[in-house]
Amino acid sequence: THFGFENVAEHEKAQRVAGVFSSVASSYDTMNDLMSLGIHRLWKDHFVRSLNPGSNSGSLTPTTGPSPSQGWNILDIAGGTGDIAFRMLDHAHNVNHSPHTRVTVSDINPDMLAEGRKRSLETPYANSKNLDFLVANAEELPVPDNSVDLYTVAFGIRNFTDKEKALREAYRVLKPGGVFACLEFSGVTNPLFEAVYKRWSFGAIPLIGQLVAGDRASYQYLVESIEKFPRQDEWKNMIQAAGFVVPGKGWEDLTGGIAAIHKGIKP
Ligand code: SAM
Repeated sequence: THFGFENVAEHEKAQRVAGVFSSVASSYDTMNDLMSLGIHRLWKDHFVRSLNPGSNSGSLTPTTGPSPSQGWNILDIAGGTGDIAFRMLDHAHNVNHSPHTRVTVSDINPDMLAEGRKRSLETPYANSKNLDFLVANAEELPVPDNSVDLYTVAFGIRNFTDKEKALREAYRVLKPGGVFACLEFSGVTNPLFEAVYKRWSFGAIPLIGQLVAGDRASYQYLVESIEKFPRQDEWKNMIQAAGFVVPGKGWEDLTGGIAAIHKGIKP
């Protein structure tokens, strides 16, 4: 690969990932819009709607969670600039009228979290008890056992050095009945569409990175990390192997499988 990631020690990979996100933090949101032609916003909206945060009914509502008056305790891992967290709070507060639902946005990278904190100032949740930020590695969370109702991770887990370890941590921190939910790039199922998509991702994305963010290497890394991430069924098996009960088929494809949503429930 561009960075020769296979040949470096795990801690070195983690450091390089940190470097990538520090260098893209300020241009991250603009780049997401350009690279996905704005579609990541629709995926994120759909992801959050499908989780229905703050509700007190529904098939994926955490079963042994708090009473509705306490709201949900949500941990948004690799939360970066807060895209998922702000959507979840909007949904919980405006759709489900759950004023006590709270989100901890956690990320290994303080620069990404700093952007999130800055963006939070434009939301009603800035400096409120509904929102806090935690710099932490998803593989070793400073979060108590059985304390979280919903664990979300969007476009984060493919960057983790040890995905199984992160899944075990997700399982540990969730309450029994709590929900693990992952939105991640995945495998395009139609070969024709896959050919078009590959041309776009390997050709256009590093070029846009170079022209807009002045950083071709980081965006080259992002494209390569998508390629290496397990496909839908393999990822579902890993979630099950960590102990989660996977409802239905196990995942939902978005835009022909460019991205997919996987969910698991801690029994
Ligand atoms: N969830 C956000 C979104 O959907 O826009 C941000 C996704 S961003 C592509 C990936 C994030 O994963 C980065 O902010 C990066 O710092 C974070 N990350 C990478 N490795 C991590 C780890 N081991 N633990 C926690 N966060 C990590």
